[in-house]
Amino acid sequence: MSLLVVGSVALDSVRSPFGDVTDVVGGSATYFSTSASYFTDVALVAVIGEDFPQSALDDLTGRGVDLSGMMRQAGRTFRWKGEYGFDLNEAKTLDTQLNVFEAFNPELPASHRQAEFVFLGNIDPTLQLRVLDQVDSPRFVAADTMNFWIQGKPEALRQVLARIDMLFVNDAEARALSGESNIVKAAAAIRAMGPKRVAIKRGEYGALLFDGEEVFFAPAYPLEEVFDPTGAGDSFAGGFMGWVSRQGELDNATLCQATVVGSVMASYCVERFSLERVRELTPDLIARRFEQFQRLMRFSPLEPLAG
Ligand code: AMP
Repeated sequence: MSLLVVGSVALDSVRSPFGDVTDVVGGSATYFSTSASYFTDVALVAVIGEDFPQSALDDLTGRGVDLSGMMRQAGRTFRWKGEYGFDLNEAKTLDTQLNVFEAFNPELPASHRQAEFVFLGNIDPTLQLRVLDQVDSPRFVAADTMNFWIQGKPEALRQVLARIDMLFVNDAEARALSGESNIVKAAAAIRAMGPKRVAIKRGEYGALLFDGEEVFFAPAYPLEEVFDPTGAGDSFAGGFMGWVSRQGELDNATLCQATVVGSVMASYCVERFSLERVRELTPDLIARRFEQFQRLMRFSPLEPLAG
C-alpha cells in the first residue's frame, strides 16, 4: 500500500436546485479513496456505524481499497446535511452529527504504518494528529479541513498544519484560516503556518496550486450539467494524491499534472449525486478529459508587440 487516507465515511443528505437525496453514501475518505483508486493502492482508516450499507464497502473493496483499518462500531454513522444555492459554489451546512466519530480512536494496522503518502481527510484535527503519530516516516503528508474545524478546533488544526507538507482548502476556508481576503496573501499566510504547498479549490473557477514560489492554475471543466458539488474537493485531492503516489515524484511538473488530474476527477464527481459518477469511470474516460483540459489551456505565443 502506498497511499493512506483517514477521513469521514458518511451518510449525506443533500439539497441542490436539481434535487434532494437522503442518507446517500458520502464522506471525505470515501470520495478520496474512490477517486485515488484509479491511480494507486489506497488504504482507508475510518469508523462506520451499524447502519452503513455493506454494498458501499463491497464497492470500495472491489476497486482495491484496503479496508483493514475500517472499524464498524455500535451506533449511527457520521451524518452531514448540506444545501447548495443556485450558483452551487458553496455548501451551506445544515447539520453535522459526529455519531460514531465522537469516540473514535484510530489504530493503524502494522501494514499502514509504512505508508509513503498520507492524506488526512476532512475530520477532527485531533484524529488527524493521532494518525500522524502512528505513521513511521512518510515521504509526503497532505491534509484537508473545513470551517467546522477551523472554528471548532483551531489549536489542534495549528498542530496539524505545522506537521504537513501540503494543505487542500477551498477559498472560503483559506480566508477563514489566514484572516486574509486576498487569495494569494491567504496562501502565503497558510504556507507560513507549515505546509510548503497549498492547493486552493475555487469551485467552478478552478484550482490554484502554490508550490514554493511557483503558482499554477487549472480551470474547472466547463460542464453544462452540474448536479451536486458534494465530494468535488475530495475527488480532487484523491486524483492529486493518487497521481503523485503513482509517479513517486514531488517536483513541480508532477504537482501541476496532479492538479489537472484532480480537476478531471472533480469534474466527473459533480455530474451526478453521491459517488455515482466517480465510481463508474475508466482510465480511458480520465485520459480523454485530461486531454480536453490541455486543449482548454492551449494557446499560441504572442507575436512581438513592439519593434
Ligand atoms: P467536499 O469534497 O469538500 O465537498 O466534502 C464533502 C464531504 O465532506 C461530504 O460527503 C460530507 O460527509 C463530509 N463532511 C462534511 N462536514 C464534515 C465534517 N465536519 N467532518 C468531516 N467530514 C465532513
